[in-house]
Amino acid sequence: MVLQAYRFALDPTPTHRRALASHCGAARVAHNWGLELVKTRLDQRRAGEDVEVPWTLPELRREWNRAKQQVAPWWMENSKEAYSSGLDGLARALKNWSDSRSGRRKGRPVRFPQFRKKGRSRDACRFTTGAIKVLADRKHVQLPRIGVLKTHESTRKLARRLEQGTARVLAATISRQADRWFVSFTVEVERHIPASNGKTTVVGVDAGIRHLATLSTGATISNPRALERSLRKLRRLNRQLARRKPGSNRRKVTRRKLARVHTRAANLRRDALHKLTTTLATGHDTIVVEQLNLAGMVRNRHLARALSDTGVAELRRQLAYKSAWYGGKLVVADRFYPSSKTCSACGWVKTKLTLAERTFTCEVCGLRIDRDLNAAHNLAKLAQHVAQSGWETQIAREADRKSQPPGQVAEKREAGTERVSGKTGTAASQDAAASTGEHCFVCSPLG
Ligand SMILES: [Zn+2]
Repeated sequence: MVLQAYRFALDPTPTHRRALASHCGAARVAHNWGLELVKTRLDQRRAGEDVEVPWTLPELRREWNRAKQQVAPWWMENSKEAYSSGLDGLARALKNWSDSRSGRRKGRPVRFPQFRKKGRSRDACRFTTGAIKVLADRKHVQLPRIGVLKTHESTRKLARRLEQGTARVLAATISRQADRWFVSFTVEVERHIPASNGKTTVVGVDAGIRHLATLSTGATISNPRALERSLRKLRRLNRQLARRKPGSNRRKVTRRKLARVHTRAANLRRDALHKLTTTLATGHDTIVVEQLNLAGMVRNRHLARALSDTGVAELRRQLAYKSAWYGGKLVVADRFYPSSKTCSACGWVKTKLTLAERTFTCEVCGLRIDRDLNAAHNLAKLAQHVAQSGWETQIAREADRKSQPPGQVAEKREAGTERVSGKTGTAASQDAAASTGEHCFVCSPLG
């Protein structure tokens, strides 16, 4: 059993559009009302009053049902799921915040929930009960209260599974992106997961900026040309938007155009990534990718856009589930694994490699090779060290450390990355490398 989402673009009539927008608006109203209530109650409690602060979805829903007649006398116009959806979002946000504060949640600190603003926040609403159907003609879906909606694309992939009884719809979410409405079904799918995909090859993937990816097989997958065009258009429209008078009609027009181009660029990128990850997951036994510290890298202004563009994180996310589906293995290299700085022929590690250097030149064996291809080769080699493991950063990291002589773990330090000394246990070896300058560990290994 696998949870999977099936998302379809919709072709709503004007009446449907109003209903869709109304439901998303209702979710926002309920969310904001609940947040206001929580804030008031928290203040009262701080002032010493003995009040209950609703924190979970059932508590929030109880309060809403008590107040809805006063707060939103029009509540009957929308499905009750709309209000529930907004309150659910709030309950999750509150939980994330309190978990983050008490240290039960990893990652960067989570802020206290904020009010959702019309036109700013994402328009979305989730249905978990009621008549949620994918109609047999494969061109329509049915949602509670909103009724039968025409889909822009065929729903056959989901419909087939539903007819065979290998899938069960758990929820449906409507959302708006630019001018287009979507429905996304959360589906529990019975998937036969093979133990192996019958392949034996290992492939290292270096996701890049100039290209979508470079493979250790020597293949380079370039960014789709249409995407490059969209990016140029984006730059132009952004300049245009900056010149438009705030609040003017023309600004609105430019804004809408910009949103459409943005969506198109995102679609093109996602499509290219999906095609690539499916080919990789079905064509190779083991895929090795690099873990990039995205949070650290996006802080660097010049890299920021390019990086979010290529969607390195998205590539890894897709590979993670697809290699599982098709019976392959995914190895994620530790983010300090020096894949770009190591010579893929002899293992010599360069101490410094700037991002501008497109060619890797080995000073020991004289290898000259494209930087990205070199990195891809090194990643593929890493798979030998972690032959038995599945999707395990931890194992990749351990194997990496054990397999190399001390001092060779030259850090792969990307712009803006903070390195916590002692965490990877190489503080001492760093000093050694520094004192010997560019040291080759193949010719004269330390220790
Ligand atoms: Zn070499």
